[in-house]
Amino acid sequence: MKYHPVPDYHMHTPRCNHAVGDVAEYAEAAVILGLKEIGMSDHSPMPGGFDKAWRMDRSELTGYLDEVAAVRDDFAGKLIIKTGLEADFHPGTESYVKEMIDSTAWDYVVGSVHYIGDWAFDNPEEMGRWDVCDVEDAYVGYFKLVADSARSGLFDIIGHPDLIKKFGHRPPLDSSKVHEAEEAMLAAVKEADVALEVSSAGLRKPVAEVYPHARIVARSAELGIPVSFGSDAHAPGEVGHAMDACLSLLEMCGITEIATFSKRVRSMQSIQRVSHG
Ligand code: ZN
Ligand code: FE
Ligand code: FE
Ligand code: ZN
Repeated sequence: MKYHPVPDYHMHTPRCNHAVGDVAEYAEAAVILGLKEIGMSDHSPMPGGFDKAWRMDRSELTGYLDEVAAVRDDFAGKLIIKTGLEADFHPGTESYVKEMIDSTAWDYVVGSVHYIGDWAFDNPEEMGRWDVCDVEDAYVGYFKLVADSARSGLFDIIGHPDLIKKFGHRPPLDSSKVHEAEEAMLAAVKEADVALEVSSAGLRKPVAEVYPHARIVARSAELGIPVSFGSDAHAPGEVGHAMDACLSLLEMCGITEIATFSKRVRSMQSIQRVSHG
């Protein structure tokens, strides 16, 4: 490894119905890799049956919190384990999400956009809709929602900030509409003072690229937007995935610090190269 490990703040549990491994197994994997800190961020409950199959039920929230707390105690002195959540930003659900977030002392809440209207654009089962949509419009619609998620004030971290590229659909490189929407998203993130997640999950998807694109990371550096790291692990073997590659991208873009959170207060930790000799 070229860098000392930074916290990995994005991992799931089987409560979301599409992840494997209990919290202790994620923690053990982190210890083996030499991580000093992780945070669990399973898919949150949402109201009205929204995306129901892909998240925990509200009745599972207490069990989730209890499991994270128990493993935190077991790993005390070996690994810091933060209590986080990946909540969806979906217009119309904000008051439910706010009430749910306020019900618990989270260390951080990741806000993610997985839907444009009723389209779960990153769901392989809804791939067909890519064939009938306008790719530029999909990107513009997505970035507008991400900007709104930052402005909502609900979240500490914007999850996988260009997830829309997951399957490799790309707008024309010179699309001014997409460029403007991307810039407006970054301006909203800066204004709201939230962190952007740099996620290695994109490397495991058809797009085979870190979320967000290096251009967005470089603009974040220019704008002074803080970044956090997440593997979006849905299995213990994915903890810390491609952390070194992500840190090297950050260094290349001039980013020297990574965001950490405790009880929703952000601190910056410097990214350090492993020194030789
Ligand atoms: Zn997931
Ligand atoms: Fe997500
Ligand atoms: Fe996730
Ligand atoms: Zn995710």
